[in-house]
Amino acid sequence: MTEIESKADVFAAPCRFCGATLHTTMVDLGMSPLCESFLTAEQLNGPEVFLPLHVRVCDSCLLAQVQEYVSPEEIFDEYAYFSSYSTAWLDHAKRYAATMTERLGLGADSLVVELASNDGYLLRWFVERGVPVLGIEPAANVAQVAIDAGIPTRVEFFGRDYARALAAEGVQADLVLGNNVLAQVPDLNSFVAGITTVLAPGGTVTIEFPHLQRLMAENQFDTIYHEHFSYFSLLATERIFAAHGLTVFDVDELWTHGGSLRVHARHEADTGRPVTEAVDRVRAGEMAAGLDRMETYERFGAQVEATKRRILTFLIEARDAGKRVVGYGAPGKGNTLLNYCGVRTDLLEFTVDRNPYKHGRFLPGTHIPVHPPEALDAARPDYVLILPWNLREEISAQLAHVREWGGRFVVPIPEIDVW
Ligand SMILES: [Zn+2]
Repeated sequence: MTEIESKADVFAAPCRFCGATLHTTMVDLGMSPLCESFLTAEQLNGPEVFLPLHVRVCDSCLLAQVQEYVSPEEIFDEYAYFSSYSTAWLDHAKRYAATMTERLGLGADSLVVELASNDGYLLRWFVERGVPVLGIEPAANVAQVAIDAGIPTRVEFFGRDYARALAAEGVQADLVLGNNVLAQVPDLNSFVAGITTVLAPGGTVTIEFPHLQRLMAENQFDTIYHEHFSYFSLLATERIFAAHGLTVFDVDELWTHGGSLRVHARHEADTGRPVTEAVDRVRAGEMAAGLDRMETYERFGAQVEATKRRILTFLIEARDAGKRVVGYGAPGKGNTLLNYCGVRTDLLEFTVDRNPYKHGRFLPGTHIPVHPPEALDAARPDYVLILPWNLREEISAQLAHVREWGGRFVVPIPEIDVW
């Protein structure tokens, strides 16, 4: 570490779980705008906020993290993302509800609480089975969609204090679930303590999050953004849960978001459910991948730089050959990728997205325009760069007609792949 770098440590916030000083850089993606701050045409004529996007790993507890530069209130006020828009994700939610209802024997006397319940895309499947639910969702416009659909939802930020208020109302959940929310929680200790508070004795918690091991193994640096404060291994998660009296007793490996873990946890005292072999296996896999050693994290930055060079080489060679390249999708991950790689409209003319909120707007930082999907058919590009690469199969099947004009598909992650 140079003297200047060690001075930079002084300005970095301490670990949000254990409070230790953060010394180890996993990757520094430079300055980037908030990935969901799509711009209107008028906003292109003004200044734009860029913030450091620098992931550090805690030497003490192994939590990979980005400093909180932006408050959750700013992120969630009018969140542009509605989870109901992905077909594969909806199927995933439906299967989860069926499996958990059966596995836990949930019925009319049970309660399922979802943290960050979005527009009710998941809880609706429990409602359909006659299981009482309560959603907690901080984004008011998104929560309203759930409420209108008859899914009980509170517009709140979940944490220690709100959990106590719920418990005082008599709320005790047989199942507490949180999908892709843990990463977005700035005060991790408050959030996990809150789970312990609302979890009934004998109850189950399931939490899904993108697996840090997959992120690192498969170059998924574009899943890093300011709104994702933390990046979890099982090793770190077990430690965090244990600090709040929860034991991880089972884990599922999922395909979602490029490879996720779903951890199942229970009260520490609820020893009737022993820790499964799956937990030992995933933990052993993380140790074999070196996730318990700082040098593994320190190597990741060079891997990301090499990936950036390969993406730029493809785009530059395509343009030099007179090919047209347009994007598909405008996900947060696309914005991290395009900003970090320095891609502008000279390399990617425009992108298209199914979410009407984004139409006529521009990607933050890169100012690449977002059009409705029909714009793709009108342009007949040579290459369609699929930015939500985790949905590559679903999207290329939907866009099969691109083949009619000789168009080909490209994903940037884990490696440039053209087909
Ligand atoms: Zn720590």
